[in-house]
Amino acid sequence: MKQNKTLKKYSNYIMPTYTRTPLVIVKGKGKYVWDKTGKRYLDFFPGWAVSALGHCHPRVVSRVSKQLKNIIHVSNNYYHPLQAELAEKIVKSSFKGKVFFANSGAEAIESVIKLARKYGYPKRHEIISMYNSFHGRTLAAITLTGQRKYQKGFKPLPSGFKYVPFNDIKAIKKAVTKKTIAVVVEPIQGEGGVNVASKKYLKELRTLCDQKDILLVFDEIQTGMGRSGKMFCFEHYGVKPDIMTLAKTLGGGFPIAAVVASSRVADVLQPGTHASTFGGSPIVCAAALGVFEAIEKDKLLTNVNRMGKYLVKKLQSLKKKYPAVIAGIKGKGLMLGIELRCAGSSIVDSCMQKGLLINCTQGNILRLLPPLNIGKSDIDKAIRVIEEAIEEQAVA
Ligand SMILES: *Cc1c(COP(=O)(O)O)cnc(C)c1O
Repeated sequence: MKQNKTLKKYSNYIMPTYTRTPLVIVKGKGKYVWDKTGKRYLDFFPGWAVSALGHCHPRVVSRVSKQLKNIIHVSNNYYHPLQAELAEKIVKSSFKGKVFFANSGAEAIESVIKLARKYGYPKRHEIISMYNSFHGRTLAAITLTGQRKYQKGFKPLPSGFKYVPFNDIKAIKKAVTKKTIAVVVEPIQGEGGVNVASKKYLKELRTLCDQKDILLVFDEIQTGMGRSGKMFCFEHYGVKPDIMTLAKTLGGGFPIAAVVASSRVADVLQPGTHASTFGGSPIVCAAALGVFEAIEKDKLLTNVNRMGKYLVKKLQSLKKKYPAVIAGIKGKGLMLGIELRCAGSSIVDSCMQKGLLINCTQGNILRLLPPLNIGKSDIDKAIRVIEEAIEEQAVA
């Protein structure tokens, strides 16, 4: 009844921009969330990769609580030690360069577009991205996103963007012109269906970008911060980008995003060219430092690799058992997709009824992004629920 009241207020007062599941979540701790009725759910898609340490992780909570007692916001015309500390942490764990702090993935992507254009100005401005990519919802970010459905109804879009098929080096070689300044790619396309870039592709892309002085940008907003089994997904490839974006997991639930730019481009955006009022405030920096601390001190990368392997093994045996329903398993670390031969939304709904939260993207890809600190027994439990849901699907 209370749930209905909330739903009613949403429909009266909140813009209908989201397809929402009728579930009112009031509490979260670790791998679980609870609804208003007290029902508990195992969360295998915590905050779309935002709450990757599980909900309300103690290392994040304690750092943020401590910071709340000092100061909440310091504007960017002054200095704060935590912003400096976090930038150093990000750079030292990725590649030599500098950081710009923003508040969301889309804002980080906007910043990258401006940075790239400024770097190329006035001779080069074209940016190449991938079909089935996802880069956020601002006007420039939907233009960079290589999916028509996100652009429909918003014309005129900014000019200077081009798309090529993912994992196709020939196509990108053909698309490059004298005006190309950057190539943007997700090492694993998340929203696009958990599509993994091949090693050969990213290596050849790096070579191409070096030859033509083109900026190689990795959007690691979903793959970054341990999700793939390395701190950053690019480490799997032996290929460093010139620019990388981070958001989602970075703040452990708090809204923070970062653009990391290598030394070559790090000083392009001088005072007056770019800014963000909330960017890198002490609270969100405290949270992000808590996330780094958890990944390092709790040895979460080791856990992601072990649990990722275990989960894939379990999913492969499900695939063997239900070949008429499951076409394939894809992904890396704990960023996994189950490719179905049918629509996935009824399986997602059924899992929720049974107390497991997962996601479906592109209509038929079940997406699992369990917390980085998940254990075997949780995986076993999730697999049992998914199997039951598939069983129903197979029977129906
Ligand atoms: C989620 C996501 C974005 C957009 O982030 P927002 O914080 O929603 O603006 C951009 N790129 C990738 C790869 C994402 O997964």
